[in-house]
Amino acid sequence: MKIGVIAIQGAVSEHAEALRKALVERGEEAEVVEIKHKGIVPECSGIVIPGGESTTLCRLLAREGVAEEIKEAASRGVPILGTCAGLIVLAKEGDEQVEKTSQELLGIMDTKVNRNAFGRQRDSFEAELELEIFDLPYTGIFIRAPGITECGKGVRVLGELDGMVIAAEQGNVMALAFHPELTGDLRIHQYFLDKIFG
Ligand code: GLN
Repeated sequence: MKIGVIAIQGAVSEHAEALRKALVERGEEAEVVEIKHKGIVPECSGIVIPGGESTTLCRLLAREGVAEEIKEAASRGVPILGTCAGLIVLAKEGDEQVEKTSQELLGIMDTKVNRNAFGRQRDSFEAELELEIFDLPYTGIFIRAPGITECGKGVRVLGELDGMVIAAEQGNVMALAFHPELTGDLRIHQYFLDKIFG
C-alpha cells in the first residue's frame, strides 16, 4: 500500500515523517511516497496536500496533471488531507485574493476560503484548539493561515478559531488551517490513517 504526499513545496518531509511514525505506532505497513508528477496518485490509498503557497501549488498541480488525478482519487473515496495551503487548494471557492490570482482550486470540498484569514499581525502563532474529533485539546501551529468562511451542507465543522472554521471534513476529505506535521502530536495523522485502514 502507498500513501502519497504531494511534494511540490512546503513541509513535505515533515508530513512523510509524521505518517511513518504514526504507521509504526499502530503497527501497520505502508510506503510513504513523494508525489512530484503524474502517475503516482492513482496508486495511492491516501493523499496529503501540505502547506506552502497556494498559487504556486495550484498552478503546478494543474500543469503536472496531478490536479485531475487528485479529483479522480477523491471521487473514488480515497482519503485526502489538506493542510494550510492544502485547505485552500481543496476548496470550491476563494476570496478576492484567490479570484485575482486566478487560482485553479480543486473544488473537492464545498467550502469558501479566506486565503490569509489571520492577517499579517498574527503571521505565525500557536493556539489550543478544541477539535470535535479529540477529547483533549490540540495545539495548532498557524503560519500565514487561511480559514474557511462558508461551508456547504455536507461539510462537518471540526473546529473554529476567531469565528473562522479551521478544521473540517467532507466524507473522505479533511482540511486543516494549521500544520499538524510540525507539532509531534500524531493524533491528526492517526485520524487520517484510521480513514485509510478503516
Ligand atoms: N496563506 C498561504 C497561501 O495563500 C498558505 C500559508 C501556508 O501554507 N503556510 O497560500
